[in-house]
Amino acid sequence: MTNSFKSISQFRQDFPILKQDVNGKPLVYLGNGATTQKPQIVIDTLREYYEQDNANVHRGVHTLSARATDAYEGARTKVKNFINAASEKEIIFTRGTTDSINLVASSYGHANIGQGDEILVTAMEHHSNIVPWQMLCQRTGATLKVIPINQRGELLFDEFKQLISERTKLLAIVHVSNALGTINPIEEMITIAHQNGVPVLVDGAQAIAHISVDVQKLDIDFYAFSGHKMFGPTGIGVLYGKQALLDAMPPYQGGGDMISVVSFSGTTYNDLPYKFEAGTPNIAGVIGLGAAIDYLSAIGLDNIAAYEHHLLDVLTKQAQNIDGLRIIGQAEHKTSILSFLIDGAHAADIGELLDQQGIAIRAGHHCAMPVMEFFHINASARASLAFYNNEEDISRFISALNSSLALLR
Ligand code: PMP
Repeated sequence: MTNSFKSISQFRQDFPILKQDVNGKPLVYLGNGATTQKPQIVIDTLREYYEQDNANVHRGVHTLSARATDAYEGARTKVKNFINAASEKEIIFTRGTTDSINLVASSYGHANIGQGDEILVTAMEHHSNIVPWQMLCQRTGATLKVIPINQRGELLFDEFKQLISERTKLLAIVHVSNALGTINPIEEMITIAHQNGVPVLVDGAQAIAHISVDVQKLDIDFYAFSGHKMFGPTGIGVLYGKQALLDAMPPYQGGGDMISVVSFSGTTYNDLPYKFEAGTPNIAGVIGLGAAIDYLSAIGLDNIAAYEHHLLDVLTKQAQNIDGLRIIGQAEHKTSILSFLIDGAHAADIGELLDQQGIAIRAGHHCAMPVMEFFHINASARASLAFYNNEEDISRFISALNSSLALLR
């Protein structure tokens, strides 16, 4: 391990939860695809907000409300800078990736997609980038089209070019697959989509903590992500949308904050981004997300990406030496995720035996049942990495896997 890699894994010290024993063994946390752990600074920020500043935002004339509003809007600027959006107006706070995608399906979808239109997704989507579109199709008579994948878990690019047409009204694609680890070529896909006049929504849930994202450079129309997968709190997420698109969209939910004037003779709506933030928001969550972004930015996404690439290489090479282990997802461009099956062992049993040795992984369909169907499996075991993991975690995982297999086979 090089010195710079070593210094990245030192950030592990900032995560109090990682310092515990689980089932009598030091915790090895490899469930980062499901959710990430929180550094002390995020925990402190949440506590300090509730201890010192708690008040509703955009309303009070008093000092606490002004402080809460400043911190809340300050976090919006941090998000804007983190993904290089053009304006704070393009940053909508939501409950998470799922909520962000539902917002677009409901608002943009209903205004722009109808009978005979097509929405294009990939065969490797998470359910949250499938079901909202299926619901929209049911209501409008539009059709969902699916770009197929190959056995390595990569998109069939030529098929994508065949499928996109004048009927396509939206391309909704995952940036990084949570079930396979595949990094999709979103830049090339966006170029082709735009040549066809098709806007693009990118599900960034698994990418945002691992790859640096510049929404202007990539010319992304909508980008959705969750705070809890980037070392921030649960229950908070972001929808980035180009201002022109958001401006033209009708509100998603009605209520306080999203209005300009309400009267029984008619209501006018607030400006962006508030038009899409009805009701008291998750103020603490937003401020905690801001702290997580500061923390991540100080380490540097490019440093994180290089280190995690190295860790995934080590993990993959060692896993391949295990007799009967089959990796699900062997794309050329991958990040942080090793999804696998072992002959003669159920994924859930592997997960439970590893847990007894203090190792947390995820086993199941990963909310990506169509991916499981494609590979003719019901579930897989998944070890997913973050920058606080190290080679010691990998050796513990591999030796625990070997001893579990001795019991299972
Ligand atoms: N998309 C992908 C690729 C995901 O991995 C996840 C979370 N597993 C989601 C969407 C949904 O995120 P959330 O549950 O935070 O809304």
